[in-house]
Parts: sequence; C-alpha cells; structure tokens
Amino acid sequence: MGEKLSTIQTLQTQLSQANEKIAQLEATLHTLNQPEDREHRSQTTLQDNISNLLSLINSTEDIIWFVDRNKQILLANKATISEFKEQGIKIEPGMFSTDFLPEKQADYYDQVFESALRGKTLHLNHTGTNKKEYAVTVQPVKKNDDEIIGVSVFARDITKIHQLQEELRHHEKIIASTPNLVALIDRDFNYRIVNDAYLAAFKRKRENLLGTNLRSLMGEKHFRQYSEPHLKKAFSGEIVYFDTWMSLPNQGQRFLSIPYHPVHSQDLKPKYIAINVRDNTDLIQAESDRQRIFEVSLDMFCVFGFDGHFKDLNPAWTRTLGWSIDELKEKTWMDIAIPEDRDSNLAISERLLQGESIIGFENRCLSKNGSIKWLAWSSYPDLEQQQIFSTVRDITTRKRMEEELLQMATTDPLTGASNRRHFIDQATTELKRSRRSGSQMAVIMLDIDHFKMVNDNYGHGIGDEVLKRLVDCCQQELRATDIFGRFGGEEFAAILVDTDKKFTLEICKRLIKQIAKLKIRTAQEQVSVTISLGFTMHSADDISIDSLLKRADDALYKAKNAGRNQVVSL
Ligand code: GH3
Ligand code: MG
Ligand code: MG
Repeated sequence: MGEKLSTIQTLQTQLSQANEKIAQLEATLHTLNQPEDREHRSQTTLQDNISNLLSLINSTEDIIWFVDRNKQILLANKATISEFKEQGIKIEPGMFSTDFLPEKQADYYDQVFESALRGKTLHLNHTGTNKKEYAVTVQPVKKNDDEIIGVSVFARDITKIHQLQEELRHHEKIIASTPNLVALIDRDFNYRIVNDAYLAAFKRKRENLLGTNLRSLMGEKHFRQYSEPHLKKAFSGEIVYFDTWMSLPNQGQRFLSIPYHPVHSQDLKPKYIAINVRDNTDLIQAESDRQRIFEVSLDMFCVFGFDGHFKDLNPAWTRTLGWSIDELKEKTWMDIAIPEDRDSNLAISERLLQGESIIGFENRCLSKNGSIKWLAWSSYPDLEQQQIFSTVRDITTRKRMEEELLQMATTDPLTGASNRRHFIDQATTELKRSRRSGSQMAVIMLDIDHFKMVNDNYGHGIGDEVLKRLVDCCQQELRATDIFGRFGGEEFAAILVDTDKKFTLEICKRLIKQIAKLKIRTAQEQVSVTISLGFTMHSADDISIDSLLKRADDALYKAKNAGRNQVVSL
C-alpha cells in the first residue's frame, strides 16, 4: 500500500505543477485578452500571440490546442500531435473535429465548442480511442473587449490516476472492512489515516483524531514504554511486532497484537508507519482457559514422542500415579505399565506408530506407591510431528467394581467357593478339554452327614462356620487345576483333572479324614462332622456334564445308604 500512496502523491505533485503551468498559460491567455499596451494590441492578432506561446505550451506533457470561431484547429502543441499520432491521426491547422474524432465524439465536441464560443467554460471527461482517460477543460478565449475569438482545449491523461484511485478505493474498502484497527502515522507521530474500527476502539471521531499525536491518545506512560521505541525502530526501516495489554474505553483491558510496518517514500526512507492492531484478547482468554482445563482436569493429558518418552503431562498424572511430572518425563509410557501388559502395549504402540488413532485402550500402570492403576487411553498420533497425543482416564474404580460384580456372579458369598452355575460352566469347559486331549477326569459329589443336627444343636451360625471350614479344607487338599464348587445347601462338587480312579479314591479318603479332623469351637464344646462322597470317572460315552453329575450323585446316595462317612464310586 505504501508504494501506491507515494505514487499517488507523486502524481498529485505533478498535477499541481501542471496546474501552475496552466495558470501561467491562462494568465498569459488573459494578458492576450487584456494587453497592457493598447497600441501594440491593436496590431496584434490572436494568432501572433498564440505563436509566442508555442515554446511554453510545447514544454508540457499536457494536451493543449486552440480552435478559432469556425471550430477549426488553429494551433496544437507537441503533446497533442504525438497523442493523436499514437491513434494514427495527423493533426494539422484548419482541421475540424470531424476530421480527427469518431463521429459521435465529433458531434459532441462541436456542441462543446459552440457553448464555449458562447462564453461557457466546460470540464469533461474524455475516453480516447486508445482507451486512455483524459480530464478536459474547454474554455473561451476572449479579446479584451470580451469578444470571443476562439476556444482553448486543455486535456490531461488521467488513466493512471484513475487506476490508482480505483485501487485506493479498493484498499480503503479493505481497510474499512477489517476488524483490525488500522492507522497510518507520520514522522511526527501524527495520525494521517485511521479506519472506523480504530476510531470505535478509542471512541474518537475521525476529524478529532486525524492530525493529532499518537502520544496524546496512548498516554505518556504507554507512549514512552511501547509506542516511541517501537515507532523509532520502525522508522529506521524495521518491521516491528509486539503484544501489549491496553485499556480501551468501555472494553477494559484488551490484549493487542501490534505490527508496525514502515511505509517507504521514493527516497526509500520510511515516511509513514502503518499500524494494524489485532485484538487477541479472546484468543489469549481461550488459551488460558485451555491451560486451566489442562491443569485442573481429573483426566490425564500427555504428549509423547514416537520413542515413547513423555514430553508434556498435566498435573492429573501426579494426582493419579504419585510420580512427579519430572519423574515421568524420564520415562516412557511403557515403563510405567506392569510387565504383564507388555505384549498388548507393544501391539498398540505398533499401531500408533502406523498413524492409527486408538480409543479406549486399557492397561495397568504402577503408581509410585506400588499400587496398580487401571488406565484407559485415547491416543491420536501426529505422523508429521512424530508425537502422540493422549487423554488418559483412571478406571481403577470401575475395574474393581467389574471384578466385584464378576465375583458376585460366580462365587458363593458365604464360603467363597464357585457357585453352582459357575461350577457347571467350568466343568463343561474342562470336559471339552478332556475329550480333546483324551485325559482322564473325575467328578465327585460331597455331602455333610446329618448336617441338620449341627444346625439344630448349635445354631445356624455354627452351621455356617462348618461350611466355611469345610470349603477351606477341600481347597487345600485339591490341586489348583481342580475345580471345586458349592452345589447347594451342604452339598459340594469337585472335578479332578488329569487323574485316574485310584488317585481319585485316595483324594476322597483324604478328604474324609481331613474333614473329620476339623474342630469347630462352640460355647459348650467342639463340633466335628463327617462327609459322604460319591465319584465317577469320565468315559467316552459321557458327552454332557449332566450324566457325569447324575452318576456321581447316585454314588453319593449309595454311600449315604451304606451308613455315611465313606466314599462310593460308580
Ligand atoms: P444327610 O446325612 O442325609 O445328608 O442328613 P442332613 O441333615 O445333612 O440332610 P438334610 O438334607 O436333611 O439337611 C440339610 C440341612 O442343611 C438342612 C439345612 O438347614 C442345612 N443348610 C442348608 N444350607 C445351609 C446354610 O447355608 N447354612 C446352614 N447353617 N445350614 C444350611
Ligand atoms: Mg447332608
Ligand atoms: Mg444334602
């Protein structure tokens, strides 16, 4: 924009210089019409005087010519001749406008000359056949007795000025339409141009602000601290950017980003500084809001590099895992995970490095105090920056609840043994496995003898205690791979895997022995119980767990009938 401004200024200077020349011309014309020497005048013809003007009018680039009362060319300056030459027309004295202008224009100029000959001065715009724009002044040439003896035509090529004005209007529109505060400051720090946004921000009127000093608007302190040093720098030719908080009328403190652009004149020295202020308060506010969310969020945010090292973490990490931010920045995200999750972590890392976003990935991490936290990760890789953005949520509580729910759904709350449904699920799985592998499997049913009497004699609480102690005892005697469950009331079942009939019989006998040894203390005495057992071995015919359970139950029935406290197999 600076370039345009200085070009326009140059043109304006040229225009005023030419106007001076015109004034000289007009003055000369005037002297023609009002000669000081009457005697001399009487002998002087218009033509003679105009001839004297030739050297003067030939020195200008403006088009000047004269017509006589017949509207025939009397004289044309060099500029006129060369301008028409460009259009392929040779201008000669005695020509009529019809001889060198297109028909429509010729008629029009004929009328213009008519009115000039009647004493009128006319200002008009003319578009040449060469597409150039001219500002034309046509005026009568009078003798001293006011007799009109001819017409002078003055034309100036304003094509470039038109274009520049057009561009300037364009620039003005842009300046007016921007929400930025735009101003142009001269070397004395006075306002030369301001847009509406600038005026509105400072609650000023254009006529009051233009020509006044920036110092008076900014206030002495702000001017000294910011405006003056930056303006001086900009006037030395540098583009200066700075941010500042400033109090604006009715708006309070605003965060303004201000560039000072030097606008150069033709001698290449900055003549003006263009100021283009952007109000970034909302941006700064949003940024600080974001920062606050980052700080106070219960969720963890982090950025880590493709090497897995943490680059940035919010304080929620410390709240959740106990590690300080600095401690975490020494680690990779996989360093804090427990070794059991290593394989799944590596698989996820692989996918992230390929650019895949992964939402809701769960793993377990070690906190500083050694406790394990379940974390859910949503991660977005940025391949360009080679880093990964993650929001991470502590889901330990949810995981614990899920575990508890699972526990409740699968175990008997009194004894902690698997419940009937879970036992059958496990047994079914085990049966399938045994059938596949061809290994032997035993199903045992176990029932406490005369348990009703325990309840009747010592109360339900003691009965419950007996049940719990019995479960503990059985779980101790059985292997970890065996399956044990409470089938109902005081009835239990077990699946022994990879076993044979002999070994199962031994286990059953051991159970009878160990349980008989249990002593449950009551207020009066110690209570002991005996158990009866029935078992069966899995054969190729057994396709469902039900038939096996039924056979074992039959065996148990037999044991009861045979006098209890013994084991029977079927
Ligand atoms: P048998 O030798 O024929 O098995 O005789 P029993 O008395 O053990 O058998 P019965 O089926 O007649 O009685 C089972 C008793 O177990 C009845 C019931 O009150 C008791 N029982 C069932 N579940 C519980 C429990 O959760 N706690 C307690 N304390 N008793 C239970
Ligand atoms: Mg019983
Ligand atoms: Mg029973």
